[in-house]
Amino acid sequence: MRKITLSNGNTVEVECLSCALTSGLIEPEGGVVMETEFFHAHQDVAYPIKGLVILASKRHIKCLDELTEEERIDYITALSQIRKAQRETLGIEHVYYFYNEDTTHHFHTWMVPRYEWMYEFGRSVESVRPVLLHARNNMNSKGNMKEVINAISALKEALRS
Ligand SMILES: [Zn+2]
Repeated sequence: MRKITLSNGNTVEVECLSCALTSGLIEPEGGVVMETEFFHAHQDVAYPIKGLVILASKRHIKCLDELTEEERIDYITALSQIRKAQRETLGIEHVYYFYNEDTTHHFHTWMVPRYEWMYEFGRSVESVRPVLLHARNNMNSKGNMKEVINAISALKEALRS
């Protein structure tokens, strides 16, 4: 079991954070961005970056080659729909995607929008960790949190239709 501290300060003990989120045991702040038969999209507000989305499988698997054919199709379709919504509702021009199989959770892909301010941390993939840490430590002001929550609502709305 792992102890997870939620953004509201409460702690919960779970086997797997992704299982807890995709099964609805933990409600992500701002709610669910999108849900399909096999996948669940939400924002981790511990990293308050507008339009950041995490797409997690509902099944507890770790590796890409564990996806069934149906899940693979659902995955790439959901990923593309979210990407399109990021562009159309939030004007996001570029997104960084990353996913590691040796996670302590389970299969989940980060979709991190690229903003101008991020270039001070470097031009490419090496800047991602510093960007996330900067967001977590310095961007949790009330104003920015509100923007982040509004962006989740906008994405939700776009993905509903
Ligand atoms: Zn899991």
